[in-house]
Amino acid sequence: MYFHLILTDDCNLCCSYCRARVFENPQESSEKRTQQIEIDPHIPPELNINPELLYAFLQKDPTPTLTFYGGEPLLRADLITRIVREAPVQRFMLQTNGILLEQVLPEIINRFSTILVSLDGREDLTDANRGTGTYLKVMENIKKIRHEGFNQELIARMTVTEKTDIADAVRWLSCNPDYSFSSIHWQLDANFSDDFSHRRFAEWVKMSYNPGILSLVKEWVDHMESKGEVLRWYPFLDPMEDLLRGRQSRLRCGSGYANYSIMTDGNIAPCPVMIGMSQFYVGHVRDADPRHLPLITVSGECTDCTIFGFCGGRCLYSNITKPWGETGRHMVCSTVKHLHKSLTDALPRVKDLLTREIIHPEDFSHEKYNGCEIIP
Ligand code: SF4
Ligand code: SF4
Repeated sequence: MYFHLILTDDCNLCCSYCRARVFENPQESSEKRTQQIEIDPHIPPELNINPELLYAFLQKDPTPTLTFYGGEPLLRADLITRIVREAPVQRFMLQTNGILLEQVLPEIINRFSTILVSLDGREDLTDANRGTGTYLKVMENIKKIRHEGFNQELIARMTVTEKTDIADAVRWLSCNPDYSFSSIHWQLDANFSDDFSHRRFAEWVKMSYNPGILSLVKEWVDHMESKGEVLRWYPFLDPMEDLLRGRQSRLRCGSGYANYSIMTDGNIAPCPVMIGMSQFYVGHVRDADPRHLPLITVSGECTDCTIFGFCGGRCLYSNITKPWGETGRHMVCSTVKHLHKSLTDALPRVKDLLTREIIHPEDFSHEKYNGCEIIP
């Protein structure tokens, strides 16, 4: 089982699509949320459970994977160091903004099987979203951890908004050898907070995002053909592997059945973003059995959707909270349908490359539920 562990609610950045949004329009956001969903107001801001309870819970799982998450988890590097040394866990992952990576001992960094670092593309876009100087600082830290022996998967994780030229951003992060990223993932900042009326999302999807995806799928397959390499672009990699194998997928992030999140008070939620959404909690580390956690599944319109087996419902949190209403949701679904069509159209070419042994089935292998939502 995969578990996110929320270490702190605090963060050392104030990104435009995250904390800064609360200051942009606090009233609208909090009013609409509280009408829809009850939020437990007593969640401790920092991890506040006895580590022994956590370890006893994880010990019951035969193959636990623990992903440190926040806020910014490296603000609690002390706890990370302790838990990595003490917990009965073989595999650790980290999802970070990368600013404090340099302060963690190489002995600890090198224990991670995957590190996801948030970056949004080129320096100007990243800094516009995440604060001046962020890009160069993160790049410096990435070079440092690579130099100090981190040789596992390093994923550049982009948050994509109307400011993003998706094709340019993905090319930039994948092609420059200095960056040392093994993989790229991106997630749309869409249907996530009550901001649909302020957005020009529909126009951007039509004019920029969907055409960009089409170009990238072509480039991805061209690269397979010319270099014999399957680039690890997660929104393509995981769904294409399933298309090749004829497999359907549940929610691709694994939330609510393969991936759960331990809150700072020890309660267990289906997803790391569902902090305080206590009616969806599935237990507490003090007495839950990780092998038998209740399932929380996507319901509603998704189950009748023609591409449910491809999409899996995209996002459990969005399906429950519905912050963009029906119009906005359909707009987001149109991007998933476009992705599905782009990959399905490319499938015969990919199959041909496999038949000619230019690429191989194992080139699509990857770790599931590693923090990539997969469907942007
Ligand atoms: S495309 Fe939309 S309706 Fe269809 S499964 Fe995905 S989220 Fe649900
Ligand atoms: S995609 Fe949605 S349900 Fe999955 S981890 Fe992200 S916020 Fe949670």
